[in-house]
Amino acid sequence: MLPLSASAVLLDIEGTISPQAFVSQVMFPYARAHLATFVARKAEDETVMRLLAEAREQAGGDPIAAMLAWMDEDRKEPTLKAMQGLVWEEAYRDGAFKGRIFPDALAALRRWKAAGLPAHIYSSGSVQAQMQFFEFNEDGDLRPLFQMHFDTATGSKLEHGSYLRIADAIGANPAGIAFFSDNERELIAAEEAGLQALHVFRDGMAPSKRFKAIGSFDQVEINPTG
Ligand SMILES: [Mg+2]
Repeated sequence: MLPLSASAVLLDIEGTISPQAFVSQVMFPYARAHLATFVARKAEDETVMRLLAEAREQAGGDPIAAMLAWMDEDRKEPTLKAMQGLVWEEAYRDGAFKGRIFPDALAALRRWKAAGLPAHIYSSGSVQAQMQFFEFNEDGDLRPLFQMHFDTATGSKLEHGSYLRIADAIGANPAGIAFFSDNERELIAAEEAGLQALHVFRDGMAPSKRFKAIGSFDQVEINPTG
């Protein structure tokens, strides 16, 4: 058991509290397969048309082709992310798929909630996509388990300044925040900002040699320091 003291928890989503494969093998292929028909059906939708115009301007050409290319290149274009969020929102509402988090993560989130320890999310998925992922989840609406949500609008997950801005936004001392991620480069940035950086290794990954590491949230016990 890894004992920690913290006034807040900050969590990555993919690979940390949810299977990496859900995003890469379900959500992204779905958005890719349905983008063109979605846009075609939404000719009356102001938001969709605005995003389409933005993509056209950025690409200087066919916005659908540009967005498909950005997907293939894994480019984190805000316009693309917003459009994907809309495609996913409809898919969630239609029940095409549901979000899923690991049972040990769900149990820990419930423990922290009961103990009054606030949990926040920092993911490269847009805040909108995060909210949908938790609202339409296999375990029900999980939104009440979280307080604040951050995405790359706050800054890159690889830059320490982003973690300082998050600490400021949630009103916590950086040293009081326990940040969990499967990505060591994110942990390095968080550590530079003074956060407690903890590695979560899943699916046959090796535990970090540099950071304290857990294979499951069952292995961590957090003393809330309020
Ligand atoms: Mg991750």
